[in-house]
Formats: sequence, structure tokens, C-alpha cells
Amino acid sequence: MDLPFDGAISRYFKEDAPKSVRKAIEQGGKNDILSKGYAYREEISKKDYEARMEALQPQLVRLQSDIKATGKRVILVFEGRDAAGKGGTIKALTENLNPRGAQVVALSKPSDRESSQWYFQRYIDWFPAAGEMVIFDRSWYNRAIVEPVFGFCTQNQKEGFFRQLPEFEQMIVQEGITFLKFWLDVSQPEQLRRMLARESDPLKQWKLSPIDVEGLTKWQPYCEAIAETFERSHTGFAPWTVIRSDDKKRARIAAIQTVLNALEFKGKDRGAIGQPDPAICGGPEMWSD
Ligand code: ADP
Repeated sequence: MDLPFDGAISRYFKEDAPKSVRKAIEQGGKNDILSKGYAYREEISKKDYEARMEALQPQLVRLQSDIKATGKRVILVFEGRDAAGKGGTIKALTENLNPRGAQVVALSKPSDRESSQWYFQRYIDWFPAAGEMVIFDRSWYNRAIVEPVFGFCTQNQKEGFFRQLPEFEQMIVQEGITFLKFWLDVSQPEQLRRMLARESDPLKQWKLSPIDVEGLTKWQPYCEAIAETFERSHTGFAPWTVIRSDDKKRARIAAIQTVLNALEFKGKDRGAIGQPDPAICGGPEMWSD
């Protein structure tokens, strides 16, 4: 396949990646967690993961039927660096749900027309009606992180965004919509390892985009934008749930548990759901740069 970024990730790995990152990848075994600061050394076993999912999935199905029966509205926002595991987590959340009531929204870059509109406008178009859950795979937080890091917006636009943001999110909550924001936190070596895997697997190459390669060189600017985002948008009414996602399976479990615990629903089984693992899931204090 002829891709514009063909081989660029391997080249970055060989030529430009920080030595410590390269070394962590070279020395890491397949199931090893590469981040030294992670609470576990290895991925959760397939058996344990499947057992947890077997308990959680029926609860998600019950949640959805309750949302439908009671006319609740739910918005989930999934954010994180490239390859943090947003797509896989969303897939695990929705795999047994009726897509009609659990829509995933992954908007591409704004068109010329959208760029001339109020920044939040195109997201509002997708907000839920009664009985619906809408899951944003990236969101308006592009203006807080991706856009400033890549220079796709001006400093003024970013400031304007942060000024409007608290009121915007407060309106969502006051409207009675259940609103949860997730930040999936991937370490630098794990991110690069996942990108290398994407590059070499024809079935995963669609997940790569030309700006991903450039994004790899911007680890530090991302860190600054993420820190600022938490500082300016971790509010009482719309707090961030931060999940360390070097082990993507543990991260999926914690995300699903958080969603299930946030809502009351008929047939809720607290024992089956359990609490998210505090070693990988919490607030912005979980995030490390
Ligand atoms: P993803 O990682 O979500 O598959 P990309 O890595 O291509 O997608 O882009 C990351 C985010 O940046 C996407 O939400 C995309 O819409 C946004 N984006 C890409 N290019 C631009 C641009 N020129 N202006 C504004 N946003 C952009």
C-alpha cells in the first residue's frame, strides 16, 4: 500500500526517538508494560480480562435498555493522545449495544463552512435525544490540545474556547444530560510501539494519519497542552476521569466500570461491576508527563 507516511514511523523510531524510549521498546516483551511508572509490569491475562468482560457486558446491555426506557440522555467524551486506546475502549463499550441508541461520533477536521461557525456548533448537532447515548471519539477538546499543538488554531481562538468551555459544559449538565469525560493516558514508549504495530499491519494502517508522525515529535508540547487542559477544565460539574492505558485491557475495564457506576439503572449489580482500579484510574493526578 502506498501511504504518504510509509515507513516514517520506523524512521522516527530509528533516527529521532529519545534513546530511553527506543530502549524501552527494544527490551520490552510482547506483554510487558513499557512504562516504569505503571502499577503493573505485565498486561492483564486474557483469561482474567474475559472474565471481567463477561460480568460487565450484560450490565452495559441493561444500562442501555434502562436509558431507553427512562428517556435518559448520555454524553461520553473520549480523549487522549494518538494511539492511547480511544477506539478500542469505545469498541469494548459498544460491542453489545444497539447502535441506534449508542452512536459513536468521530468528526473529521472542520470544513470551511464549519470553521466559520461557532466552534461548539458542529458537536451540538450530534447531542443525544431521549434514550440515547452519544460517544465522542475526540471532541471539542481538539481546540485545547491538537489544534494549538499543530498550529491549527490561533492563541486567541484557544483562549476563547477556554473562556466559553465551563459555561458550555455546565449547560450540558444543567440540561440533565449525564456527561462523562475520559482522558486515556498512554506513555511515550507504548504510544510509539502501537504506532509501529499500526505501520506494519495492513489492517491497522487506516488508524495512522500523516499528522500522527508529526505528533510523535511533539510529545512535550502535548504535555503542556494536556496540563493546561486539566487545569482549566477539571470542574466539579464536569470532572475528568483519567485512565492510564498502557495496559489497554485494564483501561477498557476501568472505563466501562466508570460509566456503569455513574448511572442508576434497573438490574444494576454493584458487585458484578466493582470499582475501577485506583492504581490506574482517578482524576488528573493520575496523569504523568
Ligand atoms: P485520529 O487520530 O482521530 O484518527 P488524526 O490524527 O488525523 O485523527 O487527527 C487528530 C485530530 O485532529 C482529529 O480530530 C482531526 O479532525 C483533527 N485535525 C486534523 N487536521 C486538522 C486541521 N487541519 N484543523 C483542525 N483539526 C484537524
